[in-house]
Amino acid sequence: MRKKLLFWPCIGLLMLTVLAGVIMERAFQSWFIEHTDEELLSVSSAVKVMLNKTYHDNQIIRLDRITDDTNQLKPDIRITLLQKDGTVVGDSELTPSQITNTTNHSNREEIQQALSDGQGYATRFSETLQENLIYFAEYYHDDNFDGIIRVSTSTKHMTEALWGLRTIMAFIIIGMSVLIALIIIASQKQLNHYIESSQHDLESKVAERTKEIELLHRLANMLAACNTMTEAQQVVEDIVPRLIGNLNGSIALIRSSRNQLEVKLDWGGKWPGESTYAPHECWALRKGKYHLSNDEHTSLPCKHMAKVGNDQTLCVPLIAHGNTIGILHLYLADHELSHEKLQVAFTIGEHLGLALANLNLQDKLREQAIRDPLTGLYNRRYLEESLEHEIMRARRRNQCLSVLMLDVDHFKRFNDTFGHDAGDYVLKSLGNTLSESVRGEDIICRFGGEELAIILPETGGENAGIVAAKLCETVRQKHLELNGQSLGQVTVSIGIACYPMQGDKGESLLKAADLALYEAKESGRDQFCFSQIQTEPMMSNTKHLVEKIMEGTVGTITPKDSQDEITRN
Ligand code: GH3
Ligand code: MG
Ligand code: MG
Repeated sequence: MRKKLLFWPCIGLLMLTVLAGVIMERAFQSWFIEHTDEELLSVSSAVKVMLNKTYHDNQIIRLDRITDDTNQLKPDIRITLLQKDGTVVGDSELTPSQITNTTNHSNREEIQQALSDGQGYATRFSETLQENLIYFAEYYHDDNFDGIIRVSTSTKHMTEALWGLRTIMAFIIIGMSVLIALIIIASQKQLNHYIESSQHDLESKVAERTKEIELLHRLANMLAACNTMTEAQQVVEDIVPRLIGNLNGSIALIRSSRNQLEVKLDWGGKWPGESTYAPHECWALRKGKYHLSNDEHTSLPCKHMAKVGNDQTLCVPLIAHGNTIGILHLYLADHELSHEKLQVAFTIGEHLGLALANLNLQDKLREQAIRDPLTGLYNRRYLEESLEHEIMRARRRNQCLSVLMLDVDHFKRFNDTFGHDAGDYVLKSLGNTLSESVRGEDIICRFGGEELAIILPETGGENAGIVAAKLCETVRQKHLELNGQSLGQVTVSIGIACYPMQGDKGESLLKAADLALYEAKESGRDQFCFSQIQTEPMMSNTKHLVEKIMEGTVGTITPKDSQDEITRN
């Protein structure tokens, strides 16, 4: 392939050189002929001058004497004098006797031209001298002569000179060809080397870009599949360093109030910047464009990165649906980020912006779907789903669980006394109190109105009773106050039902707990009651149990609750 590449330029070059040789030869030929013509013309003129001193030998003009005499004519130029009828009357190359025998020249081309036009040229083979001659003939007449002066010279000088020129040209062509071939080979080698290295560079760049595109694609896919920020953190931690190297980075999102940003996830080590900051503390947010803290023009670090001093940092706004939703931060320190990597960082920012905005939205929607807006507790739908789920888990593990149904006592009266807003406030603070009083894994829900339900996983009746007693006591002890106005205290009644004794389905358990709640209300409120649905009734003397619980004499697993393997603290 490369040899072919070399072959054609060489052939082209050779042809060009040959063409140049032919052109040069032609030019030389025409120059030579022109030069010869001039020479012949000058000799002819000289002959005209010298014809005054003609030496006649009978009718023959002795040109040999003229030349000898004057020494002006060149020896290699033949001079012939002819009468107008073509009879040769003088020739510098012939003896008088030879001239006498010479044929009539009236049919010669140059003679005919000279007779008709005054001058004539011809190149042809001379039968007399047996060689090629260039002829110039001129009609001339004066007192001594009225005829044609013809001068001619051999073409052998030209032929010799041409061969000399051809030899020189051949050497030049060969030399040039060799030189050019060497130059071509050398430059071809250099070109090949350059092409190979460029190709290699290009291939590695393409491979790098392909890898980047694949990783970005994967990042986008994985982020789209994330359901929580924690999952997004894992994805970012895994993929982002592969894209931009082991840099420390973080993502801060703008809170819905839009007055603060909060670092939601970081990677490559603990984030050295502020974890929360105001939007005006970031140049990128102010500019609406990425910001490099130090570049060749400026040195303007963001305030939220004050802890890293003058180290290089990069902030890239995250845009989703046309809104800035946060910032991608990179702590570069001494690391130089190439233009390509900067573009990759922007693309990461775009993916993250959209993904995190979606996650935020998903979180909000999920929260809205499962939370009660007034109390912030889970709603009834979530309770029912969770209860089924917890029952299945308890069954699988052969454990028990309890459900508490809780209702505020005389809440209607409370509302009537203090107003609906105060009632709302009580529900909110009741939600907080309950959340603080139970374990993290317990699920508190607003069942409806002022009725709440609590799922206590892995908890048997005895321990559920302890929890219920504690809740009654805590609520009772809480003094409520709104806008400086004392609202007094509220009490709650609680019904308890346990899996599997009072039911093995969510619905039946809730019903059992509700019935037990009704029992507690009937028994005088501010107390808890166990469901009586079971064939072997559990403790119904709640007051007795409460006393025991408060005394600390119960709280451990009893033989009756053999399935309650957990002792609550
Ligand atoms: P009991 O001790 O028998 O439960 O008496 P009660 O007055 O609490 O009776 P009931 O449970 O039937 O009354 C529920 C009242 O709770 C009625 C309603 O005005 C009030 N309520 C329900 N939901 C809300 C709410 O979201 N905010 C406020 N402020 N009140 C509510
Ligand atoms: Mg009530
Ligand atoms: Mg009620």
